[in-house]
Parts: sequence; C-alpha cells; structure tokens
Amino acid sequence: MERFTGSFTQQEPIPDEGIAAALEVMRHGRLHRYNTAAGEAGETALLEQEFAAFTGARFCLAVASGGYALGCALRACGLQGGEPVLTNAFTLAPVPGAIAAAGGQPVFVEITADLVLDFADLEAKARETGARLLLLSHMRGHVCDMEALMALCARLGLTVIEDCAHTMGAEWNGLPSGRHGAVACYSTQTYKHMNSGEGGLIVTDDDALAAKMVLLSGSYMLYGKHPAAPAPEVFVDLRLDTPNVSGRMDNLRAAVLRPQIPLLTDRRARWAALYQMMEAGLQGIPGLRLIPRPEGEAYMGSSFQFLLPDWEPARIVGFLSAAIARGVELKWFGAADPVAFTSRYPHWRYAGVQSCPETDRILAGLVDMRLPLTFTPDDAAQIARILREEALRAGQAEIAADAPALAPQVQ
Ligand SMILES: *Cc1c(COP(=O)(O)O)cnc(C)c1O
Repeated sequence: MERFTGSFTQQEPIPDEGIAAALEVMRHGRLHRYNTAAGEAGETALLEQEFAAFTGARFCLAVASGGYALGCALRACGLQGGEPVLTNAFTLAPVPGAIAAAGGQPVFVEITADLVLDFADLEAKARETGARLLLLSHMRGHVCDMEALMALCARLGLTVIEDCAHTMGAEWNGLPSGRHGAVACYSTQTYKHMNSGEGGLIVTDDDALAAKMVLLSGSYMLYGKHPAAPAPEVFVDLRLDTPNVSGRMDNLRAAVLRPQIPLLTDRRARWAALYQMMEAGLQGIPGLRLIPRPEGEAYMGSSFQFLLPDWEPARIVGFLSAAIARGVELKWFGAADPVAFTSRYPHWRYAGVQSCPETDRILAGLVDMRLPLTFTPDDAAQIARILREEALRAGQAEIAADAPALAPQVQ
C-alpha cells in the first residue's frame, strides 16, 4: 500500500529578495515603521503602496495580524458595545473572536452545501437583529455570488467587511477579492498566501474609514508617513476622537512580504494545478461530494474540502484514521471536540447558544486538507489515490455491515 510522506504544514522559503531586504532592515536597525531616515519611506509604507496597487484599492494599511485587521475594520465602522455583527456560521475562530474583542455580538448565518453564505438566512437574521454590519468570511476560499450579495446587502442596509484570509490573490468575475465590500482584511500569517509569520493587511476606498484605521492601528500623529492613506486634512477631525489600539506592522515583516506580492498570480496557477489534480482524483466516488467552483471564481487552491454527507461519525473516523495512517493529514469539522483549527460555532460559547441546523448537517460531513505549495502535482495525485482507495473501502465496509448477503466479496 502506498504511503504519502510529505508534510502538510511545510511552506516554501521566503524569496531571496525578501531575505536580503530583511537583513538590510536588521543591519540598519530601523524596525519600527515610523523609524525612518531622511528621505526613506520605510518597508511598511512601501508594502502598503504596493498592496494597494495590487488590489486596485485607494488605501491600504499594514497591521499586526489578520485578526487585528478584522477588529480594526469593525471599530472603524463604528461598532458599538453589544451590537450584533452577522457572520458565516462556518468560519475560523479568529473571526467571531475579533467581533467579541471589539465588543460586538457575533450572529451566525447559515451556509449552503457549497460552503458559502445562505442569502435567505442572511436576510432573515438581518431583519431579526437589525444588524448594520456583515463580516463576510470567504472561508476556505469559497466565494459567494458577490454581485447578488452586494445587491442584497444594499437592500438590507448592511455594510460589508470582507475577511479575505483565504482569498488573497483570488478574483471574482475579474475583480480582486476584497474589492466588493467597504473594507477587506487579509492575513500574512505563515499558513496563508504570503508569509511573514504574523501580519495583516487592510484595504478600502473610503477616506474616513482609512483614516480611522490608521489612527486606530497606533499612528500617534505620524499619519503623514502613510503614502497609502488619505490626505492629512481627512485626519484633522478624527485624530482626537479615535483611540490608539496599537497593532502596527513592522519593517522586518514588510521587507519579507514585499517581494511576495508579485508572486501571488503565479502561486494561484500553481495552487490551481494541485487543486485540480485532487478534484480529478476524487471524482465519482459514491457518497463523496466535491464542492463545485463557480465559473467566475479565480480561486486560490491553498486548501481542499469535500463532503461525506450523511456518513455515520464512526465511519468518518475510520476513514480519517486510515488516511492518516497512510500519511494523508485530513481535518474534520464534525468532531465533537475541536482539534487544531477545526472548532465550529457551538464551540464558541462566549457568543451564546445559537442554532444553525443546516450548517450543523454540512459540517458533520466536512473534511478539510491543506495543500502547501511544497507539494507537486504528483504529490496531489498520490494523495487523491490514497483517499479514493480509503473512501471506497469505507463505502464497502458500510455496504457489508448493512447487507452482508449482498456483498459476499467483502470480508
Ligand atoms: C487566519 C485567519 C484569520 C486571522 O488571521 P491571523 O493573521 O491568524 O490573525 C481570520 N480569518 C480566517 C478565515 C483565517 O483563516
């Protein structure tokens, strides 16, 4: 039996240009973003300019993490204590965490079997709670119909903040992900699409939101050192009313990130090759549902999901352990107790008891896998072969258990 020996958590090295730039920052010692020599912009300011250009946004702010970016956007949108914030019932823990940390009340919205927001439930919960804000999570890179969503949000009076932790570099109908909502937040943590260990980026076209976020991030009165921020006069009225919630990025991380921006498009193509190899290898397995990818979505295939709808938990556990024994590290969003990043909304008890039965049903069969760029298409093909064998084996075991007489060939 073949066994996969690659590591699901090993990322690619930092590009040589980033290593050289980081060494340069350490040699001159000006790591703090506002510690610049005469005539020097600083790596962080340059990163902001370059990422704004990459997304086509007017403004960009670099911050300490993706989670910080979400909280900063929520605060800039005027989130009040106890105010409801709508968000996907299927997302990662830092999303409801950012809402709670900023004083909001997460309200979970159902997802569909395609892992995107359910618009009917969004409308119902928006009306029920009177929420003003939607923190839209493009969880695992699955993007909903953005034109339809934005039309619905306009009708409901919802301001949209996009969580693009899994869609940095992706596009929807030709528009970079993060360009539909009022604000978009990205993470540059190691497991995302650009790697600086920790870090976050925020983009917006809105003058007042951009200025508030610069002030919130801890700019003191040095907002003049932000070439990707609005003109100084926008800050005048805001600067004494906006708290400093310190969360800046530093020049060392920015130096590591800048050379990765031009690599995102190539990374998207390389991820697509891995992703499509997985898709092809898992096609047509009875009882295993692949997630359809809409035509207009240019996705970043940095992770892969499939559904085992209505499988008994014991059978899923059997399948997962067989895959893990053969070196394929799968994660399951249906386990009673969260493992690593697989916590789901009922585990976030601080948000109060909420019920999303459709999401419960979907997550009960949701399997997730990372696809680092250190894998080759041959690796992806081997992983798919192993999963196909084990899924078919688990299926046969089920048939045998249900009706032994009909499957005499199965021992
Ligand atoms: C990683 C992640 C975040 C938070 O990013 P950090 O940089 O780790 O704080 C937010 N949302 C999603 C969906 C993520 O995966």
